[in-house]
Amino acid sequence: MHSFIKYNDFMERKTPGKVGENKSDIVREVPLACADEDAAVAFLEKRRWDDAPSCPHCDNANVYQMTSRDGGREKHYRWRCRECKRQFSVRTGTVFEDSRIPLRHWCFAFWASCSSKKGVSAKQIQRQTGLSYKSALFLMHRIRWAMADDPTQPPKLSGTVEADETYIGGKPRASDRGDGRKNWRQRKPAVASVVERGGSVRAEVLPTVNSKTLGPFLTKHVEPGSNLMTDELPAYNGPAFMLRTNHQTVVHHLGEYVRGDVTTNTVEGFFSLLKRKIYGTHHAVSPTHLHRYLAEASFIYNHRHVDDGERTENAIKAAVGRRLTYRQPA
Ligand SMILES: [Zn+2]
Repeated sequence: MHSFIKYNDFMERKTPGKVGENKSDIVREVPLACADEDAAVAFLEKRRWDDAPSCPHCDNANVYQMTSRDGGREKHYRWRCRECKRQFSVRTGTVFEDSRIPLRHWCFAFWASCSSKKGVSAKQIQRQTGLSYKSALFLMHRIRWAMADDPTQPPKLSGTVEADETYIGGKPRASDRGDGRKNWRQRKPAVASVVERGGSVRAEVLPTVNSKTLGPFLTKHVEPGSNLMTDELPAYNGPAFMLRTNHQTVVHHLGEYVRGDVTTNTVEGFFSLLKRKIYGTHHAVSPTHLHRYLAEASFIYNHRHVDDGERTENAIKAAVGRRLTYRQPA
């Protein structure tokens, strides 16, 4: 239940044991970037351009840092392009644009969300940075939005793929059915998920669980011809056949959870992680925001084999690489 990291503990935080001395510099750089705006800007510029800054407007590398009167950097850390004469900063065209939240707080939020399995809430970011709740929420949603489009991920899952669905907010109870089936489905959003064994996960909010919704979901995320493992829900049969998968099921209602290597335990493990995150850290999540938390949980799961520093680096790269095409990311 305690994913809460006190700011001081965080600053003292040691590199996990398995990380070698030279493994990721980011683990040493991050604490500084969270405390000092100059360091934060330098840190993010390095992640975005890797010592070769280029103009986001015309892609030209002929750029220079603007300076202030005292010879330091210009107060908004701007650069200017010699070709198109336009100004830009590390924020331009990234999730950091359209906000005045200091970049050191962004660095802290990235680090906090990537170094804890269950994530951080906006409330925790508010307490630790001194930002308003509204700003903290904006920042966390932008981070989740960046995580949703992860360039390191393969387009589709293959090999042995487990699929399952769950309801966030508890499984429907017998008493809920009294209100009519439509009712509990509206209150408890369904999440469908596929996990490649030893690989990554994809998860989406579905308006309802049937073959009409599971079909497009599976087609989008699973390579045809994969080994698909599900429970006995009949809604999987049609889509599994259409995708020409080798479809095998475990019959949960007969108490069967594993038969040889047929099981859906991996995908259920992801769901339990997701639920611990939602109930333990965020307590409650509105259906309109659920997809953001799925993006975050999936990102953490897909980068579970690397250390905290590398995971943070991956998230920041996703954030600076993801161009804003409209003002308010959904
Ligand atoms: Zn330019």
